[in-house]
Amino acid sequence: MFSDTRAFQRAFLEKLQVMQGKIVDDATAYDCFTVLGTLVREFISKRWIDTNTKYKHTGCKQVYYFSMEFLIGRLLESNLINLGIRDVCAEGLAELGLSFEEILQQESDAGLGNGGLGRLAACFLDSLASLQLPGHGSGIRYKHGFFEQKIINGYQVELPEYWLKDGYVWEIRRPEKALEITFGGHVQPVTENGRLQFYSEPAERVLAVPYDVPVIGYRNQTVNTLRLWSAEPVVDFEQEQPFQEQSYQKIVEYKHSLEAISEFLYPDDSTYEGKLLRLKQQYFLVSAGVHSIIRSFKKKNGSIAHFHETVAIHVNDTHPVLAIPELMRILLDEEGLGWDDAWFITTRTISYTNHTILAEALETWPTDMFRSLLPRVYMIVDEINERFCKDLWNRYPGDWERIHKMAIIADGAVKMAHLAIVGSHSVNGVAKLHTEILKKREMQRFNQFYPHKFNNKTNGITHRRWLLKANPKLASLITETIGDRWISQPTALLQLLKHAEDSSLQQAVEQVKQENKHKLANMIQDMTGIAVDETSIFDIQVKRLHAYKRQLLNVFHILDLYRRLRENPDLDLRPRTFIFGAKAAPGYHLAKRVIKLIHGTAERINKDPAIRGKLKVIFLENYRVSLAESIIPAADVSEQISTAGKEASGTGNMKFMMNGALTVGTMDGANIEIFEKVGNDNMFVFGLAADEVLQFYANGNYRAFELYKKDPRLAYVMDQLIHGGLSANQADFQIIFDSILANNDEYFVLADFASYVDIHAKIDRTYRDRRRWNQSSIVNIAHSGGFSSDRTITDYADEIWQLQALPIVSNSL
Ligand SMILES: *Cc1c(COP(=O)(O)O)cnc(C)c1O
Repeated sequence: MFSDTRAFQRAFLEKLQVMQGKIVDDATAYDCFTVLGTLVREFISKRWIDTNTKYKHTGCKQVYYFSMEFLIGRLLESNLINLGIRDVCAEGLAELGLSFEEILQQESDAGLGNGGLGRLAACFLDSLASLQLPGHGSGIRYKHGFFEQKIINGYQVELPEYWLKDGYVWEIRRPEKALEITFGGHVQPVTENGRLQFYSEPAERVLAVPYDVPVIGYRNQTVNTLRLWSAEPVVDFEQEQPFQEQSYQKIVEYKHSLEAISEFLYPDDSTYEGKLLRLKQQYFLVSAGVHSIIRSFKKKNGSIAHFHETVAIHVNDTHPVLAIPELMRILLDEEGLGWDDAWFITTRTISYTNHTILAEALETWPTDMFRSLLPRVYMIVDEINERFCKDLWNRYPGDWERIHKMAIIADGAVKMAHLAIVGSHSVNGVAKLHTEILKKREMQRFNQFYPHKFNNKTNGITHRRWLLKANPKLASLITETIGDRWISQPTALLQLLKHAEDSSLQQAVEQVKQENKHKLANMIQDMTGIAVDETSIFDIQVKRLHAYKRQLLNVFHILDLYRRLRENPDLDLRPRTFIFGAKAAPGYHLAKRVIKLIHGTAERINKDPAIRGKLKVIFLENYRVSLAESIIPAADVSEQISTAGKEASGTGNMKFMMNGALTVGTMDGANIEIFEKVGNDNMFVFGLAADEVLQFYANGNYRAFELYKKDPRLAYVMDQLIHGGLSANQADFQIIFDSILANNDEYFVLADFASYVDIHAKIDRTYRDRRRWNQSSIVNIAHSGGFSSDRTITDYADEIWQLQALPIVSNSL
């Protein structure tokens, strides 16, 4: 793109003049951001066209990753790195007296997701493009992404987020590709030429307008597409004036009611929100997405009978599972196929990832709501169900109970996971344990009926964002040590193992960690006004706030440490800084009180001179991708402490490991696979195993109250909730207290407390041996390549999608 800094500066200054009418002295950091982003987008435009042209002309198979969430974060630096021009730009800007760092900070996070599930989708896009695979994203262009969190007096307050307020430099609006989506109304069956046809008279029409975002591969010519759909009114109010009799007010209301579909992201993670608007959003995404795929397929003159040979549609969790009946509907009603042919194509096109076994997250829609919003789609789901139940009957004659349990429609509800399994050719879990639990328990009957559908694809993260971009110092050190092959072949990080005992590398790794900690300490000072000890152990838990993730266990441990320090200020303790970041769903009261508890605990501990600064507790507000990139490289200890069997995979665990943090974790999700790689010497495992947790649930003989009575440390901690004065409002933590004692501690916080305290004592001892710790750190980094999403996506491409890489050769410079 830019052969040298001069060429870059010329282009930059010219664009600044044309776009903003400014010279460099007058340019704001935001002007510079817009100019730089525009330069990148213009530069890749040729490659983008070439990529699309090549996909079209070769007729290669393409995958479309449907997801209600894409937690993208910022793109500028990541794009510059992938294009190989980051350093040229940084130097060029510095010479112009501009701060590259400050310019990067101007970009607002595209927060179109809640947490792990949405971030996974974003990592997958990066890996698809970097592996030169023809794969695209399909999502919703929410006007308001995930809410902005403010902490006021220790309480979470949610503010609307507005990432689009200054426009989005990466998107291109494509109004000519808009599609009409319809809801409600009636279905009219008509016999035509001896064939039953269904005509819909919808009650509501809305326009789905695509906005395309380029997805740039790492040092290759591939530019794939993330297509985000926006809801707009179908009628042009200024020209058609269809509501002449109605008030302006009514028109505005109508317009808003249609735009509401892509207005905001549901802020729920791991819980299911059974609202009509959410169902509308799901159908909106799926109907627009499937139609646009069919349209581009037909432009290539392919016979629809071969659709599944060149199109794969992947649904990220059950949220886009309506793609199954929607594809059926189009094939039946619009393409004129018979049921069996349509079903053959549909089930070979669709594949599905399950993300959770938490019962409260399983989607089911009331049949009445479903039928009235999507009458024709409901008829098709009903028919799929009828045929499926008939197959079940043939296989298990007379087993009514089994058929009832496996049915797609039962007890007045449509079960989306069942629809997903029946209508797809592959069902994957996201870590070995999770897939095993699916196969052996949660979906055992389905696994018996469809033994070949179930498979595992352990999640991954893009090492380009989470190491190369987020931790440039560590990345350089790695490259100095083993060369740069790891950037395109992340398993090459294993070569670090040869150097793990090398004391110069150990010291260099420690030095990098120290610099990252220094940087984070400055940021903490700026954000909270609190000075932290940079030589203390940085012990970090950042992720969504949820009971199963057990931030509460972490707080209980901190309160216990605090008590011990109060009792003995000379306690031989390595100073620790506990750092939290977490958003709670706005309606999740327990989780919000845990946030308040963290703040109450922080307030008490940070201001108590008696403990001589040995403990600090920090909460960083508004946790999001860009904040994660600043926090994770500075971690010594990674807290991955979910109740065993509850965290499907986790990806935060992988990011920390890749940045040299040591994990304290339960045997849950991908923690188990991290443990299999690094071993007991390089990870701190504690707590109940998943089968022990299941045993307790099955036999009902867990007694939280008895543990509380037996262990005086727990008595103190629990008492602090009620009488500790950790909130001005004494009743604030009653709900937490009750969740443990009155509701018998569903997530086994008390059961794992003792082993958690013990393992933290071991962490304290181990940290003192700097050689050993640094060696462990290197071992963790070395094994983290196996958790790159490049590995995950390669497995999806080979084993689920049957997708081949297709290098793009573009002539642009
Ligand atoms: C990776 C990531 C998550 C997922 O973290 P877990 O620890 O796996 O729950 C959530 N939010 C953000 C911003 C992330 O980057």
